[in-house]
Amino acid sequence: MNVEAAELKKFADAAHGWWDVDGAFATLHQLNPLRVQWIESLAAVAGRRVLDIGCGGGILAEALAARGAEVTGIDLAERALKVASLHALQSGLNIAYRLSSAESLAAAEPASFDLVCCMEMLEHVPHPESVVHAAAALVRPGGWVFFSTINRNAKAFALAIVGAEYLARIVPKGTHAYAKFIRPAELARWARSGGLDPFAFRGLHVNPLDRSMRLGASVDVNYFLACRRPT
Ligand code: SAH
Repeated sequence: MNVEAAELKKFADAAHGWWDVDGAFATLHQLNPLRVQWIESLAAVAGRRVLDIGCGGGILAEALAARGAEVTGIDLAERALKVASLHALQSGLNIAYRLSSAESLAAAEPASFDLVCCMEMLEHVPHPESVVHAAAALVRPGGWVFFSTINRNAKAFALAIVGAEYLARIVPKGTHAYAKFIRPAELARWARSGGLDPFAFRGLHVNPLDRSMRLGASVDVNYFLACRRPT
């Protein structure tokens, strides 16, 4: 299976803090409104069947469900899914959380989602291209796939690892491994070989002074890619 046990353990061990906005996943909480706005600027969400691959505690899944999407979240960290299910109950949201890999869901239920999201997850798996291909298989023709990950270059190393983990300490140490970062051209190539059309890149820009975030054109560090599956 396309999974690294040490990676899952990291996310399972921290799962209790998933909804602590100042905790280990603070960056995901801060980033969430930006990515949701960006998704909604490209694709309608309300009433759509959405799959969130590597959903963790459900930060993105809940935001999309709150906007009227019919959301399924999958992850392989069971404790993260437990936290996600409990929190959805507390939020009054109906989300289907399932312990599944993207690849096995793609084999069982191909072309069954209008939107597929796979955010901050590809840099944690041994074979990210296999997850990209599964996402491509899971979306229906005409549907959208949204990825986010971290670029692989000196600036990304300096900001995403040294800066975020060691200096600012806004991300727990050991969260990311440089060798697993993914260049935009690699991600676009895997999307194309899976049958998707890469549509738009956006970069995440963090202001070092007040740590505020915005989306912009440069994809030097954290970035997003929106793809469409041709009809
Ligand atoms: N996508 C969420 C969580 C990102 S954290 C968000 O952006 O808010 C990365 C998540 O990927 C963790 O929940 C981890 O358990 C999950 N993950 C890691 N490897 C995985 C795999 N092979 N299959 C499914 N999920 C995986």
